[in-house]
Amino acid sequence: LTAEQVAAVEQRGKAEDHVTVNAPVSGIVIQKNAQEGMYVQTGTHIYAIADLSQLWVKLDAYEADLSWLRYGQKVEFTSVSYPGETFTGTIAFIDPILNPVTRTVKVRVNVPNPRGKLKPEMFVHGVVHSRVAAGGRVLDEALAGKWMCPMHPEIVKDSAGKCDLCGMPLVQAESLGYVSAAPTEQDKPLVIPVSAALVTGTRAIVYVEKPGVAQPTYEGREIVLGPRAGNYYLVRQGLTEGERVVTRGNFKIDSALQIQAKPSMMSPEGGGASAGHSHARPASPAPEHKHD
Ligand SMILES: [Zn+2]
Ligand SMILES: [Zn+2]
Repeated sequence: LTAEQVAAVEQRGKAEDHVTVNAPVSGIVIQKNAQEGMYVQTGTHIYAIADLSQLWVKLDAYEADLSWLRYGQKVEFTSVSYPGETFTGTIAFIDPILNPVTRTVKVRVNVPNPRGKLKPEMFVHGVVHSRVAAGGRVLDEALAGKWMCPMHPEIVKDSAGKCDLCGMPLVQAESLGYVSAAPTEQDKPLVIPVSAALVTGTRAIVYVEKPGVAQPTYEGREIVLGPRAGNYYLVRQGLTEGERVVTRGNFKIDSALQIQAKPSMMSPEGGGASAGHSHARPASPAPEHKHD
């Protein structure tokens, strides 16, 4: 009871059968543990109260998308409860451990919820718009060269200092996996359309147009892919900018090579029945050749 309530009881000279007990914090009742007539004492949990003006949204990110996610990134998400409405939050934590059953990683997003529209246990679907630089670092102009609190991703400043919320020293965004300076040409990664790559297990083959020949000629080439981003793959090794790759019909080229027992995606060593002639083939990459 407050001092005022105690004084009021003293003034009346007798205890009332109803008293108001004030909660130590304001919020919304999310659990009611007590029933009328129940005996309560100090320490009894009567209600559970939550401040729902700031929420944590817990998202599951697929293993393959992890390379695009960073602490501090903006997340847009939607809920079936509010069709057409987009909410935003900030990635505050990426679980260091993968769930081996779902092959997903928990991502915690801090979300302001001033009007209380979002409710605990709602299902939401989140999207992160990530721009990637060479080497897999993430470009984010809003964070380039900035300083952030390692505990509070919403605290972003132009220079070193301390977090307004927790007092921890701010760290450079670059140390959290971002590109610090404005992106240069050099920082742009090489990408190919997803349809250009024939992927089996750990191998990826593209058919590359041979430059400077009269008839269109393609050579199969094994390349090293980076992560997939929407309809594109990053290319780590094996292609250079400006080379033309087959994006449609590459399966036909590959199966034609198989029939001819030439090296293809399905049988990289070639072999099988030879069509009546043989000739040396380059060791690697897989050869282009054609006959009239
Ligand atoms: Zn902080
Ligand atoms: Zn031949």
